[in-house]
Amino acid sequence: MREGDTVARLGGDEFVVMLENLDEQEIVAAEQVEVIGEKILATLCNPYQLRQQIFRSSGSIGATLFCGQIQDSEELLKQADIAMYQAKKVGRNTLRFFDHKMQEVIDARAAMEEQLRLALENGQFELYYQVQVDRVGLPIGAEALIRWNHPDHRMVIPEEFISLAEETGLILPIGRWALSEACAKLAGWSSDEKMRKFVLAVNISARQFRQTDFVDELKALIAKYALDPSRLKLELTESMLLENSTEASVTMNALKEIGVQLSLDDFGTSYSSLQYLKHLPLDQIKIDQSFIRDIATAPNDAAIVQAIIAMAEALRMDVIAEGVETEAQRALLDMQNCRAYQGYLFGEPLPVEKFESLFKDA
Ligand code: C2E
Ligand code: CA
Ligand code: CA
Repeated sequence: MREGDTVARLGGDEFVVMLENLDEQEIVAAEQVEVIGEKILATLCNPYQLRQQIFRSSGSIGATLFCGQIQDSEELLKQADIAMYQAKKVGRNTLRFFDHKMQEVIDARAAMEEQLRLALENGQFELYYQVQVDRVGLPIGAEALIRWNHPDHRMVIPEEFISLAEETGLILPIGRWALSEACAKLAGWSSDEKMRKFVLAVNISARQFRQTDFVDELKALIAKYALDPSRLKLELTESMLLENSTEASVTMNALKEIGVQLSLDDFGTSYSSLQYLKHLPLDQIKIDQSFIRDIATAPNDAAIVQAIIAMAEALRMDVIAEGVETEAQRALLDMQNCRAYQGYLFGEPLPVEKFESLFKDA
């Protein structure tokens, strides 16, 4: 560093460098920062010898300019921090400048996080129900899909908020709400002649599944609503079973002990390991809609679907196809011995009153 520059260690492996007396023109100042930053990175890349061992290290630098602008130091550090994470993301050992577009994205996410909190408090979430049918088209149950009735009168689909909810941990209270709401509805169906046999599938997020009290919470819900546990089906995804697979199988076995059903959602989209499949107590495999979409036109997808169904049969698991939209898709799946279906061909996700009015005993 030059004399007059400031270097500080904020904690852990994070350092701050403040460069003063840069050029007045922003673009030139940025170039100066870049040169100095590259020098720092190169220096950090030098090998270190500690005793007999050679160690290598690298850094990621985030930079922000404050030429002449009045900004508080915390704001500046936040900007540098954002840029640093961006540098890490693009592969480390690099320098990234903070830019305002990035800030806009981050601000929008922060605003959405706040709105999600309010949504929970104000009961803006709702479950939609999409019918699942058997081979001959008779309804056998439904999947509960969350919707957010946004205060500015639009309905938000999960794609727009589930991943943020997962990152922020808000998925825990949201998922808890969804599970409880689903159990309440399922309890209501048990007195209806036509719906009493319906099995309701609920999506469980990885974080929810990993909560130590997840199994106990579920037990409490089942007791509270006096549910037949076999009418509740939890949809899990492969990635959550693969990380910490020992823990995952302990949780799954505890869930089986309660008597709920377990389904493997989005099957085929991540690393499907036959090794774990045969050890896990799964009742059902749900073939991902990406394979169904092109099943009638792409021979490869048709072959994959056929293999998945044969495998499920061999492992004595049930199989359901999701995203079935056309009669051609259904016919092909039927030929391959698929046992259950879900998709627009049979019904879209519906608010509970509409769903019940279609299926309840008149
Ligand atoms: P998913 O579990 O794979 O849900 C199936 C998605 O496919 C749903 O989107 C559904 O509306 C849509 N879909 C159904 N039939 C068809 C069809 O024939 N064609 C096409 N193209 N799409 C169809 P949705 O409701 O937007 O949900 C998206 C994802 O959000 C879900 O994917 C699930 O991963 C997540 N999600 C939904 N509800 C919850 C929840 O309560 N908790 C958690 N953790 N995740 C949820
Ligand atoms: Ca699902
Ligand atoms: Ca799915």
